[in-house]
Amino acid sequence: MLRAVHLCRTREFASERGDSKGTAEAVARQSELARDEPLRLTTYARLMRWLVGGQVYDVEQGSFRAADIGVDDGRISTIRSGARRESGDEVIDVSGCWLLPGLIDCHVHLTLPTDAGDPAASATRTDAAVALYTAAAAERTLMAGITTVRDVGGWSYVEMAVRDAINAGTCVGPRLFLAGRLLSVTTSTADYYPGMYEVADGADAVRAAARRQLAKGADLIKVMATGAMLSSETEDSRAIQFTLAELQAAVEIAHDNHKHVAAHAHALAGIHNAIDAGVDSIEHCTFADDEALRKMAAAGTALVPTLCAGDLLFRDPEAVATMPPHLLSRMTEFNDVHLAVIRRAHELGVVIAMGTDAGTPGNHHGLNAQECVLLNQAAGLSPADSIRTATVNAARLLRQTDHLGTLDEGKHADVIALRENPLDDIEALARVAMVMTAGRVVRNDL
Ligand SMILES: [Zn+2]
Repeated sequence: MLRAVHLCRTREFASERGDSKGTAEAVARQSELARDEPLRLTTYARLMRWLVGGQVYDVEQGSFRAADIGVDDGRISTIRSGARRESGDEVIDVSGCWLLPGLIDCHVHLTLPTDAGDPAASATRTDAAVALYTAAAAERTLMAGITTVRDVGGWSYVEMAVRDAINAGTCVGPRLFLAGRLLSVTTSTADYYPGMYEVADGADAVRAAARRQLAKGADLIKVMATGAMLSSETEDSRAIQFTLAELQAAVEIAHDNHKHVAAHAHALAGIHNAIDAGVDSIEHCTFADDEALRKMAAAGTALVPTLCAGDLLFRDPEAVATMPPHLLSRMTEFNDVHLAVIRRAHELGVVIAMGTDAGTPGNHHGLNAQECVLLNQAAGLSPADSIRTATVNAARLLRQTDHLGTLDEGKHADVIALRENPLDDIEALARVAMVMTAGRVVRNDL
């Protein structure tokens, strides 16, 4: 359909070089032009790519319709049935498939190994080892149909090199939105995750720490409003950590820089502090009450449940067997409470954004779609609502609604194909047959 021919200026340089005078003038002109655009001889006709014969999902409506998707330059250029194609266009036959936007996971730790149950086992890895692991984890995640992830606690900024490598085409992975190191009060848990924690006590220190993450290239700021479950034995998972003033300091710096804030929070008072500070999402939200959930619904604060962390652990005997006892008892004790809170949050109209905590023990990279399964089967969301958590709701949290979250003209061509209708069986999301990212098919089992 669209045929653009781009002629580079290389030919012009060649003729100038052929001039027997070989003038300094020509060389000067060459270097002047070289500053305008890179020297590449690229004469080509740009062809479109089509996904033909599939059922296209409307996330907002929660329904499918037969249509073809035309992709041009990495974005969706048209969606309609029977669209006219040019003879040279590339056609991918997805007849009988159910097409959805690529899924978005708002809570992962791509740098964390998932086999060991003891977090201390990963503390001594070299940065090179972490980088290789992270690149592989990113690829596995993308192949499972997760075309965008938000990483809320990396490892010595290694994940930023992976993000840049993915964007440069050096390796294959999802679109990455990164927090860098997570900000925390002084705690012994920092010894568990030395590459992940950035300790800051007091509002001014928090401001400086947030600025450091942004300077390193962070896309958001992650703060610890309360203790964690997978933390050191001396850290109380129900303790308040950052004060309201410290949380406000992080939000101030992030929002001033057009970034958002994710707050880890289990304990109720910490959840209230995070909402009152104006964070954009609350991670886990384990001990929320109705008052807190109503405040979140009114403020538009997203809830990122991470049900996978508690569920997938117990499906991996090795992770369970190697987990220190104090962690195992915490992971067992609060699962039912957490599920009830997520169910209630949905009833009260809290916006839920999908997040798995992939990277915790047994919570393997690439199993991310299990979160949608759990939201449906264990927390009572309909299949359509469950899919919304991993598409439109997640895109809104990432401030990417212009680019991600739905199959619409103008958005990134991030598309997954399923052989079964996920509205009939949500587990179909975990059996992806094709993955397209930015218009490029990176997996095709059709
Ligand atoms: Zn986490």
